[in-house]
Amino acid sequence: MPDAAGLRPLPPGSTIGILGSGQLGRMLALAAARLGVKTHIYCEESGPAFDVATATTKAGFEDKAALTAFANTVDVVTYEFENVPVATAEHLNALLPLHPPPKALEVAQDRLTEKTFISQLGVPVAPFAAVGSAAELGAALARLNAPAILKTRRMGYDGKGQIGLKPGDDTAAAWAAIGGHHCVLEQRVPFACELSVLVVRDRNGLLAAYDSPRNTHENGILRRSVVPCGLPDADLMLARDLAARIAAALDYVGVLAVEMFHLGPQAPAAERLMVNEIAPRVHNSGHWTIDACGVSQFENHIRAVAGWPLGSTARHSDAEMVNLIGKEALAWEALAAEPGACVHLYGKREARDGRKMGHVTRLR
Ligand code: AMP
Repeated sequence: MPDAAGLRPLPPGSTIGILGSGQLGRMLALAAARLGVKTHIYCEESGPAFDVATATTKAGFEDKAALTAFANTVDVVTYEFENVPVATAEHLNALLPLHPPPKALEVAQDRLTEKTFISQLGVPVAPFAAVGSAAELGAALARLNAPAILKTRRMGYDGKGQIGLKPGDDTAAAWAAIGGHHCVLEQRVPFACELSVLVVRDRNGLLAAYDSPRNTHENGILRRSVVPCGLPDADLMLARDLAARIAAALDYVGVLAVEMFHLGPQAPAAERLMVNEIAPRVHNSGHWTIDACGVSQFENHIRAVAGWPLGSTARHSDAEMVNLIGKEALAWEALAAEPGACVHLYGKREARDGRKMGHVTRLR
């Protein structure tokens, strides 16, 4: 059926262009293949997605001629990482549909823009301040007067570009250690647990959500996601509502991940949740949906960007997803022998420390 703008869904045999060649692109390409949809991966570097796509282009994100040639071979474009330059997304969006919208990249790429955008929607975030110098850092830490985290505004991920601070700490040294980058200082939230909300929104604004996993991080990297997360239904409905508000404000199409802190049952019901950050893409904390849901986050993202009806986000099993980081993936043989373990390996050659090599989902 045509959507509100009169556009028809892309038929099987169409090609979706994906910017980025990581494991998320790989799992998107695999989901597309299941629907008879082709994929063309575009990235500066070859990566796990190159092994499973219909076509690949290795070229720079600033290379307008290569981007235009890529656009001529695909029907719609999406992306699998949030550091795609906004100018690249806008160049492509002028040639053909690109989902999620470039605005989502703009918001997610800069922690200050992101926190300002989210808090203006009435969605709670940790108290924060923009910091552009050692003096501003000193003043902001004194004002917050609480344990805090200094984060670079741009290009930080998996806990990189972050320094913990307490009132009275040497802010000149912290400013030097972070390399003098523009930053935000935010209060360290005494959270009881972390969760994420994964919503998928179609071209008509119809939204569906997966059950929210409880997430545990180690060294700033996601270690484990567990569903159900055990939080009260009312809190989960609020979490979903906050994520839906962000998706609607971005006029979003595709899967959006919203990472949140839960402050515990002692906090007033309306103030129990705070948004940490958004990821305008499929997300590591949703990998369990491949094995525990009829339609995974990857397939639903493909469906949304291709204008298809969304699939059911219902979960048929309880699940625990554990990332295989660095050398942990060398245990693939034992994992493969474990009854009920769903093993996913990303085909990365080198098992470097801190590198996500695969994940295993155990259904319960
Ligand atoms: P981020 O890069 O912002 O996703 O941060 C990575 C992880 O650091 C989060 O998942 C939290 O575990 C922790 N973290 C980040 N910001 C805060 C905060 N304001 N308060 C407490 N923990 C935080």
